[in-house]
Amino acid sequence: MFDVAIIGAGPAGTAAAFDLLVKGLKVLLIDKYEFPRKKACAGGITPKGYHLFRYDISPVVKRQCQTIKINPLNQKSFFINDEKTLCYMTKREDLDLFSLKKVIEKGADFKVIKNIASINETPTFVEIKTPGQSYKASYLIGADGANSKVRQQIFQTKFYKKQFALEADLKIDLIDRHQMEFDFSKLKNGYFWIFPKDDHINIGIYSIDSKVRLSTQTLFDYAKQRFGSNRLKAIKGYPICTNGFNYKPDSKRILLAGDAAGLAESLLGEGISFALKSGQMAAASIIESKTGSVSAGDLYLKKLKEIQADLRFYDLSAKWFYNFPRLSFKALPIPFIHKRFVKGYADGKTIKQILYEG
Ligand SMILES: Cc1cc2nc3c(=O)[nH]c(=O)nc-3n(C[C@H](O)[C@H](O)[C@H](O)COP(=O)(O)OP(=O)(O)OC[C@H]3O[C@@H](n4cnc5c(N)ncnc54)[C@H](O)[C@@H]3O)c2cc1C
Repeated sequence: MFDVAIIGAGPAGTAAAFDLLVKGLKVLLIDKYEFPRKKACAGGITPKGYHLFRYDISPVVKRQCQTIKINPLNQKSFFINDEKTLCYMTKREDLDLFSLKKVIEKGADFKVIKNIASINETPTFVEIKTPGQSYKASYLIGADGANSKVRQQIFQTKFYKKQFALEADLKIDLIDRHQMEFDFSKLKNGYFWIFPKDDHINIGIYSIDSKVRLSTQTLFDYAKQRFGSNRLKAIKGYPICTNGFNYKPDSKRILLAGDAAGLAESLLGEGISFALKSGQMAAASIIESKTGSVSAGDLYLKKLKEIQADLRFYDLSAKWFYNFPRLSFKALPIPFIHKRFVKGYADGKTIKQILYEG
């Protein structure tokens, strides 16, 4: 019998595992793939996410960007600069392998299981059945991403929303490898990104509008037009799960974290920092529930309020931003507004803290 079983070894799962292991709990970590495995993600980590890691991830950071170029719709491009890092560039297969090794070193029992047959919660434990095996744990954390199987098993209602993003790698010579770019000029209700890595760039496309078709052809055309080359490698697409401000852990012993709980933001599709934070909150709730009278589910709901309030802000900002792009882009370059955002962002503040505290 394990103290905690975690399904999904992405940022949410490994962040939860690490904190549980530090407190001496017996952790089973399950993923459906052997690592390293490919993961559709541009691997950009904001300062607020970077500082959440309990260990130094600099060995897997490929670039630190201090400049962001913004290409608005029908307006001149502008730059956002800071002496501090605005985004840390990683490759997800490297980052996730690095984190997995950290939790295995700490004592996690890692198993690759392709198929979860059923999940049953009893008053005292949770049972995970796979074809031919059964695992019991006092608690289960579902950290299995946007298409979460755990969520499918325990929730009848749809509290989340799926956005979509597509990405690929391209080998080109970039003049400035410390500059990342968001290009809003070519897509309605979304953007193309260009993220510099060590020997290539990652380009991708994200939209909040389900009617906008994000096809590989769109990405090929964009690459050709921008860089004169469409030799894209490793094209991958996947949903990003947002609107988790409506998630309530109804169960006392099964908690969802990260994209499984819809805890990515809808404005730009950032999800890693929320996955880390919610994984850590899920772990803290389980640890606290073992010594008190409040259930892990209730403790988690209380802790999640901070993230959920922030995600609501992002949701409102996304609606405002994409519905009134001309106004948004007029406001952003104004030094008072943009300095406040950049400073708050580089200091790792949440969007709510930036707006209210400056
Ligand atoms: C194209 C794209 C680009 C993105 N770029 C960024 C970015 O630059 N920065 C950023 O912050 N966010 C980005 N995101 C969002 C980010 O990838 C997610 O929000 C983040 O990965 C969520 O972490 P997680 O741990 O919740 O889930 P995941 O990272 O999805 O991890 C889930 C894990 O569960 C495993 N799993 C899934 N199903 C099962 C199962 N049935 N059984 C066992 N294991 C299972 C998976 O193999 C995986 O290892 C991007 C998303 C996409 C699609």
